[in-house]
Amino acid sequence: MGNMKTNDRTANETARGISTTCVHAGEERQKEASSITDPIFCASTYTFANTAAVIEFIEKKLPREEYGRYGNPGEKVVERKLAALDGAEAAVLYSSGMAAVAGLLLAKLNSGDEVIFFDECYHRTREFCSKHMARFGVVTHQVPAGDYDAMEAAINKNTRLLVSESPTNPHLSVVDLERFAGLGRKHGVETLIDATLGTPYNVQPIGAGVDYVLHSATKYLGGHNDLLAGVIVGSEEQLAPVRKLRGITGAVNSPHNFYLLERGLKTFELRMQRHNANGQAVAEFLHEHPRIEKVYYPGLPSHPYHEIASRTMRGFGGLVTFLIKDADWRATADVVDRVQIPRIAPSLGGVESLIEQPLVMSYYEMPVEDRKRFGIPDNMIRLSCGIENTEDLVADLKQALQG
Ligand SMILES: *Cc1c(COP(=O)(O)O)cnc(C)c1O
Repeated sequence: MGNMKTNDRTANETARGISTTCVHAGEERQKEASSITDPIFCASTYTFANTAAVIEFIEKKLPREEYGRYGNPGEKVVERKLAALDGAEAAVLYSSGMAAVAGLLLAKLNSGDEVIFFDECYHRTREFCSKHMARFGVVTHQVPAGDYDAMEAAINKNTRLLVSESPTNPHLSVVDLERFAGLGRKHGVETLIDATLGTPYNVQPIGAGVDYVLHSATKYLGGHNDLLAGVIVGSEEQLAPVRKLRGITGAVNSPHNFYLLERGLKTFELRMQRHNANGQAVAEFLHEHPRIEKVYYPGLPSHPYHEIASRTMRGFGGLVTFLIKDADWRATADVVDRVQIPRIAPSLGGVESLIEQPLVMSYYEMPVEDRKRFGIPDNMIRLSCGIENTEDLVADLKQALQG
């Protein structure tokens, strides 16, 4: 009976709109002390009335808390909300996006197993796999992003996981999620999409048949540049060993952090609508500007992935990458330094616009040849459009480019 009620709630919740889900999903209607907001349980441990209660908990596997590393009531609320947003059964929350992907790979891969990446996938994820999982006998292959034939050709009997980001960062290439998931299903291999840039507002990889979705909740989900968190969503059964291992490795959030994430999620749809509108307007402005050599944005018809993006995405996000025409690294840095509204910082997806020159911010110490191979020219700028007013962002870029 208890189960039926839960299922009813899930069915009702998934039929609702995104903001209704953001505000209400995963929460009890009537809470502790009749508070409208969820309480923050600052508990490292949970007490038992007596020895019999401990034994009953263990024998009956009662759904209560035991120790902070294994779970917290606030964490469960956020996990249910995030699962609902992605149309998934379950979510496992971590202390950062990297902790989430490391947790999934450690739980799922054994010595001798192989993983295939599209090569534009987040560089720290590829580094974790190729440098660190390699120490435990896991083999990493990388094929060009969007080359499905190369990915299929790299699959063999040891392949356990296909991984891609979509859209990718900073080139904003978009994966055909159904084709990617189909490759996995055809060969009996699980699939993982890092949809941090896509967000559950713009893309729904679970609905396209992908097994696991990763979000760095540090970005659009938290949305305020004030927290680090990460999440893996998927089916309860496939995530069971992942959740178990998290209880051992302990990459969990503090109770205050869950609450900040829950609070940030309430306005997720509203923020995404503005991020998408700002990204599109800024991309269109830059595309027409005589000082701009090239704009990478999937919402522009000139973008090589525009057709796939239009079919599979609700909006195209707040991240815009562009090249300054005939500019060396110094002239490009001058544009970054003249901008008045966006702040110079790594990261993306928050309410404050952030700007950076990838050469300086992320690739400064990388040998030139490697950087060229990653497609990071000296005159590239990456702008994460926040939720400021569109006209102000466009006017600011206009003055910065006049310089
Ligand atoms: C930031 C980011 C990550 C890592 O997330 P953290 O929360 O910083 O650990 C992973 N993937 C993508 C695409 C990201 O942008």
